[in-house]
Amino acid sequence: MLNNEQFRKYAKQIADRTADYYKSDFENYRVYPKIKPGEIIDNIPDTAPAVGEDFEDILNDFEEIIMPGITHWQHPRFFGYFPSNTSYESMLGEFLAGALGVINFTWESSPAATELEQRVMQWLAEIIGLPKDFSGVIHDTASTASLCAVLIALNKITGGKWHEEGFDGRSFRLYCSNEAHSSIEKAAVMAGIGRKNVRKINTDENFAIRIEELRQAITDDIDAGHTPFCVVGALGTTGSLAVDPIDSVGDICKEFDLCYHIDAAYSGSLMALDEFAYLRKGLDKADSFVFNPHKQLFTNFDCSAFFVKDTDLLEKTFSIAPEYLRFDEDDRTVNYKDRGIQLGRKFRALKLWFVLRSFGVDGLKKTMRRHIEMTRDLLNFLKEIPGIEILAPVNQTLICFRLVKPRKDEDELNRLNKELLTMLNNSGEIFVTHTKLAGKYAIRLAVGKTYISEEDIKITKKVIKEIINKF
Ligand SMILES: *Cc1c(COP(=O)(O)O)cnc(C)c1O
Repeated sequence: MLNNEQFRKYAKQIADRTADYYKSDFENYRVYPKIKPGEIIDNIPDTAPAVGEDFEDILNDFEEIIMPGITHWQHPRFFGYFPSNTSYESMLGEFLAGALGVINFTWESSPAATELEQRVMQWLAEIIGLPKDFSGVIHDTASTASLCAVLIALNKITGGKWHEEGFDGRSFRLYCSNEAHSSIEKAAVMAGIGRKNVRKINTDENFAIRIEELRQAITDDIDAGHTPFCVVGALGTTGSLAVDPIDSVGDICKEFDLCYHIDAAYSGSLMALDEFAYLRKGLDKADSFVFNPHKQLFTNFDCSAFFVKDTDLLEKTFSIAPEYLRFDEDDRTVNYKDRGIQLGRKFRALKLWFVLRSFGVDGLKKTMRRHIEMTRDLLNFLKEIPGIEILAPVNQTLICFRLVKPRKDEDELNRLNKELLTMLNNSGEIFVTHTKLAGKYAIRLAVGKTYISEEDIKITKKVIKEIINKF
């Protein structure tokens, strides 16, 4: 076990190690490790050490066993999945939250953690331009937030019976597009309404939900005796950052009196920019909204911002108050245990507060705009390569593309692009992932690491060009 002096020593050492990693050390690593399943676990003993080991040895093993198996998510040329930004500010906040080790479930358990969370969520709502009547709670992930949204909707449609008595035998139906994130379907499964009761509505050529088909599905379901209760709108799908017509979907929700949840996990941060103000249109019609500062807002995982309009309904959905958690409250105390699934909650507001203050709203905007410019630059570069096809509109920070060389057959093209992706990743210089859009294998280039440089963009272009030339 470490004593206080040793802790001081190693904390400084790890701070230096981290600064080196971000300064130059990335160059020593492949973005994606060259590694086979089982290689790491085979290097870790079967049983835990009976007696404590030297911390030097532990750190050595970190370098020798763990680092070679790391996918470097913070590497500036990691373009996989989605931007999963961290920042120095965020890491320091996380460190201190760990140091304090507070658990925030009631106001009494953590007054400062509770009140800071209230305040930074209010800041966030204002930064991205949410209507004033939303209030926020920090969750670990958008998956959790969307599950909460579905549970709230169930409690609402049953007039509170869901909370008290459970299901009443009706078949509830939830609607989203066929490009909606898998967490929506999972939320429906977890909420007990069943996968079959998720109606996935077709999308248009831009991968946004088809409004008329949504309306038709709802009226068909009502006629067939089902109970529609909730629509989830996608404000930026994971596949291609497609945006559903948020305002028109909201009108349908009003017309049929359905709950309206918006999944903006990926794109939500960009709503802070005036040029994306159009994304805010229709949000006043939503009941709940989620976005992930741990994606494009420089705050390390996990930090998901969930907003609801009706906090009373939110608390009625989740509140259970055993004697041992009671204390003398007044009208200013908030107990976050009543605003979500978990009892124990991390002090996530701290890192967010560090980021928002140290970047400032201007700093956040400037950095996001830089990422959008880099995306445009890469898009223009790709468009000039013969045989490259762009598979979805590029308005934000994601490019979906494929190579269509002479071979025309779709199956063949899918195979060819899979091969291209493997070669890009095997280069060790960049990392990309894929999806399928309208059946076509699409390579996704998600731009926007916090510390990405022009030099990184140059290297990325070079690697892409060299590899595509081999086809
Ligand atoms: C990333 C993503 C999610 C899931 O996010 P988690 O926080 O990992 O649960 C949900 N919806 C969309 C649109 C996403 O891009």
